[in-house]
Amino acid sequence: MATWTRTLTRPDGQGFRFDPGSFAMELLVSGGPGELRVFEELHAPDDLAAWLADSRLTATAPFTAADVRVTEAELHAVKELRDAFWGVARALAHGDDLPPVGVDALNAATAETPRPVVDPVTRALTWAKPITGTQVLGAAARDAVELVARGGVRECSASNCGLLFVDTSRSGNRRWCSMERCGNRHKVRAHRARHETEPADAQ
Ligand SMILES: [Zn+2]
Repeated sequence: MATWTRTLTRPDGQGFRFDPGSFAMELLVSGGPGELRVFEELHAPDDLAAWLADSRLTATAPFTAADVRVTEAELHAVKELRDAFWGVARALAHGDDLPPVGVDALNAATAETPRPVVDPVTRALTWAKPITGTQVLGAAARDAVELVARGGVRECSASNCGLLFVDTSRSGNRRWCSMERCGNRHKVRAHRARHETEPADAQ
C-alpha cells in the first residue's frame, strides 16, 4: 500500500515525516481538542482547502486548493467532527469503550463525499469541482466509521508522543509514528541501556 506522509514539526523545532495511514487519521494531525489546540492548523476556511490539497485525496485525482470551497460553518463542522474522532480514535487505540456521543457524530456526518468523475476519452479520474467542506466532512466521517468497524488504530509506543495512526504495514507490527522521530529515539535509548548494563571490562 502506498504511503502518504505529512511533515510535522514538534515543539523543539524538529521536522519529521509521519504517515497517519488513512484520511480520517490524517485529519487528526491538523489539530484537536484540549491540549492539542496548540497544534491547530485550521483557523480559516482557506486553511482547510490548503490542508485538503496536501491530503491523500490527491492520490486518487489531482486538484488544488482553488478547487475546494469551504464556508465558515463547514470549517466549524469539520473541526467538531475531528475533535469528536480524537476521543473515538484514542479509545480504539487504548482498547476502551467508545464514547457514544463521538460515534453518533461520525455516523451523522457520512452523507456527502467528493464525487469522482471519469473522462470518457482520456479515462482520467477527476473530482467534481468544487470539492465542498461538507464533502470533506463526509469523507472523513466515512473513513472514521470504517476504522471503528475494522480496527487497527494504534498510538505511537513512545510514552510522550500520543500520535495516532492506522497500521497499514504488511507485517502489521508498526509501533512508531515515525522511525525518524520516536523509533530512532527508542533505538538510541535501548542501545545506551544495553551498554550501561554490560560489565565494565566487556569489549
Ligand atoms: Zn511518536
